[in-house]
Amino acid sequence: MSPSKQLLNYINGQWVQSRATELLEVKNPATAQVMTHVPLSPGAEVNEAAEAAQRAFREWRRVPAVERVQPLYRFKRLLEEHREELARIITNECGKTFAESLAEMQRAIENVEVACGIPSLMQGFNNEDIARGIDEHCFRQPLGVVAAITPFNFPGMVPLWFLPYAVATGNCFILKPSEKVPTTMQRIYQLLEECGFPPGVVQLVNGAKEAVDAILDHPAIRAISFVGSTPVARYVYERGARAGKRVQAQGGAKNPVVIMPDADMEMATRIVADSAFGCAGQRCLAASVGITVGEARNVFVEALADAAASRKVGYGLDEGVEMGPVITAESKARIERLIALGEREGAQVLVDGRNKKVKGYEDGYFVFPTILDHVPPNSEIAHTEIFGPVFSLMHAETIEEAIALVNERSYGNMACIFTTSGAHARQFRYEVQAGNVGVNVGVAAPMAFFPFSGWRDSFFGVLHAQGMHGVEFYTETKVVVERWPKEWSRKF
Ligand code: NAD
Repeated sequence: MSPSKQLLNYINGQWVQSRATELLEVKNPATAQVMTHVPLSPGAEVNEAAEAAQRAFREWRRVPAVERVQPLYRFKRLLEEHREELARIITNECGKTFAESLAEMQRAIENVEVACGIPSLMQGFNNEDIARGIDEHCFRQPLGVVAAITPFNFPGMVPLWFLPYAVATGNCFILKPSEKVPTTMQRIYQLLEECGFPPGVVQLVNGAKEAVDAILDHPAIRAISFVGSTPVARYVYERGARAGKRVQAQGGAKNPVVIMPDADMEMATRIVADSAFGCAGQRCLAASVGITVGEARNVFVEALADAAASRKVGYGLDEGVEMGPVITAESKARIERLIALGEREGAQVLVDGRNKKVKGYEDGYFVFPTILDHVPPNSEIAHTEIFGPVFSLMHAETIEEAIALVNERSYGNMACIFTTSGAHARQFRYEVQAGNVGVNVGVAAPMAFFPFSGWRDSFFGVLHAQGMHGVEFYTETKVVVERWPKEWSRKF
């Protein structure tokens, strides 16, 4: 395999070919064509990155924060200049539409912008005279070497929930991107190379489980940020914590949306359809369960079925396409199996997205929008993350019953309500067990200056990604209590 057909790692300021013995094909999910190969780097290459980061940290932490953010300002400008190019790469490896990829890059850039505020965000606090002549200060200091492990569904954005905050606060950073979508970060690291970070401050190691395990075990790596499915999030959290590391691990989701009878039905239908079927349902904030209350079902179900059936599915770079393929052939097979499971468990397949082809892209991994109605609340399908364009419907008589259905699930990434009643909205906001709540909003994605606040099985840890949580996660507080008696000054 020639080096050009294989993606590279970026270690200690150099592009290096992995010594991996195993390579995976990276395919365009709309065409099933192989675009490149990704190495499954051995643990030794993670160790090399960790050691380079450890060496770089000695100097990087001494660079004043106002100087440390200058490469990030350059990075922001380069990301803006290359936004369309990056969006095309995302569409080609991840499948989402060009508009969705552009929006993803916008959210990524916003995290760089927030991290550029580190000179203010990282400030500590102090008190003079906590006792006579004694002052107390609280400083924030970087941890050292930190790493992030990211999923396939936002190849440009999720790594940038972490990298900008980590390096702006003075840490050295290692990324292990998803092996399913490694080309976006390959290009983004080429841009990072132009920004002026010293060698070892930002590094990229491609791979899968072996690289992850090396990150979890390396003693120099002090903190780990993870985003992916719940079983892996739990594993990363437990093994990382056992090794004494700070871990934030974001997991899967099964997000319920409650539609009250007083909702603006036209708005609710449009927004819920976008939430459920946007990015082919492969968003951790995708609406995946609809709970209609009382008479809401009469109008909502039919309108949503129309919206699902009329959604234009295809290759994300083609004009007018509203939904792309799912990520892999295995993913398509798994989603179709889960639809069949729902059917067996008593759900009615109101709109069936199985066994459909897109003209010109017959080999692509397409599942069309699917709606399962009358999903039994206790069924497996009601609780399993499908991570595809499948929306399950349930029905409740009261808001209390609907909130109970929301709260009986083990995930807590997002819950939304559609209503024109402030009282219903408040009751919902107050009582639901979820970290990101939407009121007449279908994808309650926190902006970069708010924490991305999953709860329960959707998150393991304390401090979340983004904003001040990111700053706190990547820094340690140091409290200094000082006494400088005045009489000492008389000696000189
Ligand atoms: P995944 O868990 O399969 O993979 C995520 C990362 O973990 C990848 O980098 C992968 O290489 C690594 N990995 C996979 N299996 C591993 C193992 N056994 N041991 C060690 N490392 C392993 O997730 P995915 O399929 O890439 O992404 C989809 C999932 O991510 C969904 O569950 C989705 O809900 C979730 N997600 C959550 C959020 C959030 O903010 N909570 C955001 C995006 C995606």
